[in-house]
Amino acid sequence: MSASTKTQTLAALQVRPVCHVIDGRLVGSERSADVIDPATGQPFGRCPQASPDQLDAAVAAARRAQPAWAARPLAERRNCLHRLADAILAHEPELAALITLEQGKPLKDAHAEVARAASQIRLLTELVIETEVVRDDARGRVELRYRPLGVVGAITPWNMPLVLSVPKIAHALYTGNVIVLKPSPYAPLATLRLGELAHDLFPPGVLNVLAGDHALGQHISEHPGIDKISFTGSIATGKRVMASAAGTLKRVTLELGGNDAAIVLDDVDPEAIAPKLFAGAFVNCGQVCMAIKRLYVHADIYEPLVDALGRIARATRVGNGFDPDVQLGPVQNLAQFKIVQDILDDTRRAGARFVAGGHALEGGQGYFIEPTIVADITEGTRLVDEEPFGPVLPVIRFTDVDDALSRANSTRFGLGGSVWSRNVERAAAIAARLEAGTAWVNHHVGADAQVPFGGAKQSGRGREYGKAGLREYMEEMAVFIPSSRL
Ligand code: NAD
Repeated sequence: MSASTKTQTLAALQVRPVCHVIDGRLVGSERSADVIDPATGQPFGRCPQASPDQLDAAVAAARRAQPAWAARPLAERRNCLHRLADAILAHEPELAALITLEQGKPLKDAHAEVARAASQIRLLTELVIETEVVRDDARGRVELRYRPLGVVGAITPWNMPLVLSVPKIAHALYTGNVIVLKPSPYAPLATLRLGELAHDLFPPGVLNVLAGDHALGQHISEHPGIDKISFTGSIATGKRVMASAAGTLKRVTLELGGNDAAIVLDDVDPEAIAPKLFAGAFVNCGQVCMAIKRLYVHADIYEPLVDALGRIARATRVGNGFDPDVQLGPVQNLAQFKIVQDILDDTRRAGARFVAGGHALEGGQGYFIEPTIVADITEGTRLVDEEPFGPVLPVIRFTDVDDALSRANSTRFGLGGSVWSRNVERAAAIAARLEAGTAWVNHHVGADAQVPFGGAKQSGRGREYGKAGLREYMEEMAVFIPSSRL
């Protein structure tokens, strides 16, 4: 175990608790809450809990700061964000250790998350939103101009604390907005630490980071001083956010849950693709919105593929993310651990075949579940119909591709999907018929900061990333300019 990394991180938290950032200052709160290490089930640190008054102060500071920030040239805003990317990379070991402590993922994956967060800033700030001319003829010229919305309230989940919060900062600040960001109460410390590192890189009030419980998220969604909500989390909470935001008709972007299908055609080599499919399903212990959550496999290769996946699952090392040999960490929190166990019980009752795993790891206190491959299962079970958000993959048999597509699409989810075949063109044509925001061929999982990402159906509303994502942080205004003088 990389004990020294963990010990140093814990010692630093004892010396000085992490703070909120409000109006450019590092501040604590009267109330604080435990943060639990999912690998032990025990608290390892405390997190300040922002009061409604502190939220009001942050929003007021943000409103004061926004006009001057928006008036800065784009290149200056980009430079400030590049300094944030540099600060993130300069503190990669510390941020990665915090992520592993509070979220559980293996340390090398936490390092990758930190590096990716920094690279997303650079990729996003290569894009430019320019005034568009929609018409220029004898009737005159019509321009579409884009201006910032004002104050963005950003709310994030616990599965990828930095990869999900840093792009929201980048979208908002690059487009001339300012931000009030709230991480998940389950994994708040890496995001708060990010705020501390960034607090003097921007003018006071431009970047505010406040930790708090679900009620603080509701206050942000309702707040009359906030103009737009960028939310990433579950479908159930997304609906509440939309309802809360309705009172002030805020702009709302929702990045919500997924139940992605991967469809594997009969012409692939099961041994060759099994590791890729396994990685696409079990990344971050299955706790990724766009992970493979339903695997549809043609009957001709069903048994060999199930067998290969089972062997990989049994050989996968599960444990504390600070152990360098560990490939899969724990489920992040007790509530999610219980949801996954309930789904496993339901799967057993349904009579499905457990090819690998099926139980929590015995003997430890942490929230560990064996990587689980389930065969001979179909729709109508919780494992197939819901988003388990844990290390459990149902493998579903099909014989007809159109039937597989229609079953893949028969869901309220619509985040991503993939098709796997030696014939890339055929696979691409099938993938384009998935009712999803993103489709991949011979690959699954991965957002590109320059390509719009978001959910179809109940997996979301709007897009983040790419020019479409940046425009969601801006008001589009049509300006009519006549061709003749008065
Ligand atoms: P969650 O919805 O429980 O919580 C997300 C955030 O919302 C937290 O910060 C929470 O404090 C806050 N919140 C809770 N109640 C609120 C309310 N009434 N008003 C405003 N904010 C409130 O989600 P989670 O369990 O943290 O995350 C897992 C879910 O997130 C999964 O469904 C996963 O698929 C989804 N997710 C989606 C994406 C995506 O890009 N589409 C990415 C990552 C995770």
